[in-house]
Amino acid sequence: MILLAVSLLGPMQAVTIATPRGVTSIPLSAERGAPAVAASRLAVPLGLTAEVSGAEAAVRVGGVTFIFQLGAPFARAGEAICTLAAEPYVARDSLFLPLAWLTDCLPRAVARYRWDADAGRLAETAPIAIAPVAAAAVNPVTGLRLAHTIVVDPGHGGRDPGNPGRYFSGSLTEKDITLAIGKLLRAELTRRGLTAVLTRTGDTLIDLQDRPSYCAADCDMFVSIHVNAMPAGRRASAASGVETYFLSDAKTEDQRRVADMENAAISFEADAVRSAQGPLGQIIKDLQQNEYLRESARLAELVQGRVAGIHPGGDRGVQQAAFWVLNFARRPAILVETGFATNKDDGAFLTSALGQRKIANAIADGIVAYLQELERKLAVGGAGR
Ligand SMILES: [Zn+2]
Repeated sequence: MILLAVSLLGPMQAVTIATPRGVTSIPLSAERGAPAVAASRLAVPLGLTAEVSGAEAAVRVGGVTFIFQLGAPFARAGEAICTLAAEPYVARDSLFLPLAWLTDCLPRAVARYRWDADAGRLAETAPIAIAPVAAAAVNPVTGLRLAHTIVVDPGHGGRDPGNPGRYFSGSLTEKDITLAIGKLLRAELTRRGLTAVLTRTGDTLIDLQDRPSYCAADCDMFVSIHVNAMPAGRRASAASGVETYFLSDAKTEDQRRVADMENAAISFEADAVRSAQGPLGQIIKDLQQNEYLRESARLAELVQGRVAGIHPGGDRGVQQAAFWVLNFARRPAILVETGFATNKDDGAFLTSALGQRKIANAIADGIVAYLQELERKLAVGGAGR
């Protein structure tokens, strides 16, 4: 029936772009046979920028950069390749992108865009990340309706041990505890019917800058696991408890201490990471562009609440800091400092199998609570259409 309607109306002449800022009609060009849109027409409605150099075109929209080769029917966004029905081209000094990029690749790469084929309309929804609908069946464990993928990042690894774990038994350091909790968290999420991916499963060092690349198109959130430590001093062993961070400019001296400590992993990595500008400068610059701050803050709140409920060391609350590891994640991203290696009771809790299981279980509960809230919000948005 849809095919009949299209054939009666003839080929599409224009597409509509509807965003919270307004509705725009973009004419389609068919000069090369297949429908195409001029990139310049998308600059205002999508906040898109395009740059052509030689045979390559870089198109940036919604925090994602698409690389096109002129004359080649595909687009690349990070590791992901999107095949197109037609080729991008330059005509009259203007870059033209195949319609399939707008209707197919863009909504897949940037979760807030939805293509409505019947209406010929690209709609921008609230800036929240959600995986494509895989099945309408309700998850019997969580009540969730959509498929969700969570990237779990056990902090440090390999020649970066993290903090030395003063009150850990034997030769255990932070990297061992984060990996143990990370693996348990993956198991807890899997048990709840969610897809969980670990950034590392063994004692290996992953560059901070590479960690968020695990959170690609179908990833809903990035959760980094760490262990806190106080610098040596008279009151070093007094601090205890859990705190959860989301990306922001560090506000207090204590928040800055934790950010400096975790960002110190950069010194274990290649020189290229330490750009001339410095990682923190880049982080601050990116802060203005992070559209997931509110979502990250809410996720942090729910996870913190659950973990604080089972933690013997107490509740240190939700914190904000400029973490290098969270900087690149284009999804809600949090960092859980699961307790203090410099506190005797926290140390014992963190190294015990029961403590690790309790922490993993509580983080998983917090993640599910966030996703349930997210799905409720999406349902409200859907009803208004
Ligand atoms: Zn750490």
